[in-house]
Amino acid sequence: MPVLKPFHFFLLVMLLGIFIPERAHALSVNQVRFGAHPDKIRLVLDLSQKTDFRVFALANPYRMVIDLPDFEWRAGNASTTPSSGVTALRYGNLQPGISRIVFDMAKPVSVRGAFIIPAQGNQPNRLVVDFTHVSEDVFQRNKDISHGTLVTSAQLLEVPRSVPAQKPTLQSSVYKPLIIIDAGHGGVDPGARGVNKTNEKNVTLALAKQLKSELEGTGRYRVALTRDRDIFIKLRERVAIARRQQADLFISIHADSIEKSNVSGVSVYTLSETASDAQTAKLAAQENRADLIAGLDLSVEDEDVASILVDLAMRDTMNQSNFFANTLIEKLRRRQVRLLDSPHRSAGFAVLKAPDIPSVLVEAGFMSNKKEAELLNTPAHRAKIAQALAGAVDSYFEQVRKNQRI
Ligand code: ZN
Repeated sequence: MPVLKPFHFFLLVMLLGIFIPERAHALSVNQVRFGAHPDKIRLVLDLSQKTDFRVFALANPYRMVIDLPDFEWRAGNASTTPSSGVTALRYGNLQPGISRIVFDMAKPVSVRGAFIIPAQGNQPNRLVVDFTHVSEDVFQRNKDISHGTLVTSAQLLEVPRSVPAQKPTLQSSVYKPLIIIDAGHGGVDPGARGVNKTNEKNVTLALAKQLKSELEGTGRYRVALTRDRDIFIKLRERVAIARRQQADLFISIHADSIEKSNVSGVSVYTLSETASDAQTAKLAAQENRADLIAGLDLSVEDEDVASILVDLAMRDTMNQSNFFANTLIEKLRRRQVRLLDSPHRSAGFAVLKAPDIPSVLVEAGFMSNKKEAELLNTPAHRAKIAQALAGAVDSYFEQVRKNQRI
């Protein structure tokens, strides 16, 4: 029988806590406002507390939708501005535990980013949604990108959310984000064996160390390694190390191996949405039904609300991981590092499963390719990859900071 450890119990209480009747309206929406920027329209909801959320756009008629845990509406008759393109606003319960705000739009919109800014000084907790008006064409194309589901923050957004609770915000100049670099394999586990007889575990450790000094050299980050020598660490423990230290970003370094010796190039992995678990697939299916339920279709069956919200949190972390992965690929390309075809891939790597820490796994090249195995053995080639990684880390946290200025 599984033992319920105190921590698990705490977690359970936390999850259930959102839904016990006494706290049914712990969340309130206190104000809604719009701001026009040259490149986007920014919608800000003042909230009584931080929360998980989901934002997406719908067509026929055009709408933008925000799902939140049940909330109390204290924003009165929120006024819409003509430049926002919002013609009307309504809200209501969607299903037990979840309520929805629907903005009717004059034109199709693309949601560019959505994130929570924690309360700071006399500023309340805020949910910020950036969107732009797009042509019908672009709207349809975005729908295609998201595999025929909806334009959700998960697929397009690429905008990191806020920092976790209990941390100073990134805006404060003293806060240095913590980056955990995970050198793959080690000890009894050599990883892939290179055609030049080098082991993956040595390449990953060497690259991890180079990246550490690259990042520390900027003076902007704290950096820790999951291992700094040739020891074995379980995958689960690598994730635990990052979570214990409340890391802001987790980068796992590997080097691939494949039977075809001519294949080479770097690839970047994020956690696969579909493979992560059945609940996530269920959530996607639910989004496909959103066109129906936006009108508060009562036929929606009860879902396990707690699981849905956990999924939403996970999905938000995935957005950030995807943003980092795409940024990294761009930086690698700029440095003329050879990339694998479709270099951003996703799979169910155990090491990427921290629900609250954006995580990527970098396959720095192929140990099975003679030329690349030799390159990976040279400090100069590893430095090129480390510099691209450091550049991506800079861009990532720049975006996080930008999102917190409002
Ligand atoms: Zn590996």
